[in-house]
Amino acid sequence: MGQDSILDMRLTGTGVSPGVAKGRVYLLDRGKVEVQEYHIAASQVEDEIRRFHRALTESKRQLEEVQARVKNAIGQEHLYILEPYFMIIEDRMLIEGVEESIRKERINAEYAVKKVLQSFSIIFDRAEDEYLRERRSDILHAGDRILRNLMGHQPETLTDIAKKAIIVAHDLAPSDTVQMTKGNILAFVTDIGGPTSHTAIMARSLGIPAVIGLKEITGLAHTGDTLIVDGTTGTVSINPSAETQREYFLKRRRFRFWERGLLKYRNLDAQTRDGYRIRLSANVELLEEIPTLKEFGGQGIGLYRTEFLYLNRHDLPSEDEHLQMYRRVVEGVRPLPAIIRTVDLGGDKFVSKLTLAEEMNPAMGLRAIRFCLKVPEIFKVQLRALLRASAYGQVKIMFPMISGIEEIREAKQVVTEVKEDLDRAGITYDRDIQIGIMVEIPSAALMADLLAREVDFFSIGTNDLIQYFMAIDRVNEQVAYLYEPLHPAVIRIIVSVIEGAHRAGIPVAMCGEMAGDPLYTLVLLGLGLDELSMAPHSIPVIKKVIRESSFAEGKEILGEILKLATAKEIEEYVRTKMALRFPAGFPKSFTSDPARGWC
Ligand code: PEP
Ligand code: MG
Repeated sequence: MGQDSILDMRLTGTGVSPGVAKGRVYLLDRGKVEVQEYHIAASQVEDEIRRFHRALTESKRQLEEVQARVKNAIGQEHLYILEPYFMIIEDRMLIEGVEESIRKERINAEYAVKKVLQSFSIIFDRAEDEYLRERRSDILHAGDRILRNLMGHQPETLTDIAKKAIIVAHDLAPSDTVQMTKGNILAFVTDIGGPTSHTAIMARSLGIPAVIGLKEITGLAHTGDTLIVDGTTGTVSINPSAETQREYFLKRRRFRFWERGLLKYRNLDAQTRDGYRIRLSANVELLEEIPTLKEFGGQGIGLYRTEFLYLNRHDLPSEDEHLQMYRRVVEGVRPLPAIIRTVDLGGDKFVSKLTLAEEMNPAMGLRAIRFCLKVPEIFKVQLRALLRASAYGQVKIMFPMISGIEEIREAKQVVTEVKEDLDRAGITYDRDIQIGIMVEIPSAALMADLLAREVDFFSIGTNDLIQYFMAIDRVNEQVAYLYEPLHPAVIRIIVSVIEGAHRAGIPVAMCGEMAGDPLYTLVLLGLGLDELSMAPHSIPVIKKVIRESSFAEGKEILGEILKLATAKEIEEYVRTKMALRFPAGFPKSFTSDPARGWC
């Protein structure tokens, strides 16, 4: 700690990856690159252009080095994160724009690069689409690399860090986060960034606590300072006092004690005191989550989101790429089942170059199964790989965003055609592979009894079901207060979906976020769901609630809330019940409401 170091300062940002860490700061020097403008003589123009091309070649070489390191450390499937940088560095518009500026305006290469990148980033800034706006940061990161190479600066990489440290940076590019492994990086904090950025997603999947959007942390913390990062609450303490450190130790001890206590449930059934069994499985996006699923006693994958495979690339994943990924998933959880959802691109999901025309209202646009049925050539590639993967373990196929019977029949027809192709080619697959649907569109929910005759299982996607049923944009914070899983209308529609499924004799799961929040567990028990699928780390706490409750109790609570008319009344009733039954409460990271819990 230096003389001008700050003492015991607490900052609050957005916690994007839970967990608490204490360690020394490593300030990553990623300040703005200051670019000077100067004019060059006509005779220097070609040399200047050559200098620009050398910087491009060097940038590409550095990225290839990162790519090789990432591939060795965490595997092929994360390489897509680096794609945009390669695309920007090789972009013809950038290269020709810079060359033209140097030639016509006779300015130095650095200034020409800066000008062209600025014009690109203005266009992205104006984009309505949040995803496109986020891509602006890819342009800035790639541009920074070119500029540093032009100016002869060596970019600092995370692999240069020898000791265990907490990274403090203005912003981290996904190309930085993919270099992080749990070893030396204890946590990271940044001035800026969004919770849906790839950086945040990677931190969560690697289990590294992270807080972003701290605004000025790079101006306040220095290399060597001590930092406590709480990725659960989003708080960061710089050079904490003895009192703050004690608080931190207590918090960590309590959290670990709680976590350890929960692990005793890992090999026990999720069974109520009166013998009602419910299956607890995991929602998975990345292969790294599979060991956590097993550690926490998950009974398989209830939802594998395949969107990641299509993310940020300018070509389509090949059948082999699909197959390699699904094989690893299926073999990773074998003998437990993996429900793999066919791609759900569009809406708030990752939009890659593959999506079709820009849409006014993408959440209700050509997404998910609609997109797949419109472009069966793309759909078939994924289905072939899914069927082929079924030879290696237990695969179930799930279609997202089904709104009616025709879509199910059409999608199943495509599966039949793919099966026939495989038969002709003599390729083996599970001939009895189960096919299910996400129930997440109100029309599907209302006619669940009819849809249930067409498929083997249902999974209720409350994230979207509530969005469409209540007309609340799930990514718009202005209406977030209306997003109420305990709204009487939501409870009623879920009751009718489950009744419809059970009358037709098929099981019904829930895989929306509601399934992983202990506040709702007793209600969900009462509803008679067969399976709950959630983030792996939520499994132990949900199992605890189930094992310490009875089905009869769940039924009674459900009976009572069905008599209440408002979401507020229902929530108050459920909270009071839960507080009586579980007086110690739950740590915040396990609940959706940041004001609750003791963590
Ligand atoms: C849902 O909609 O509830 C769901 C689980 O799917 P996603 O969050 O991927 O839309
Ligand atoms: Mg959904």
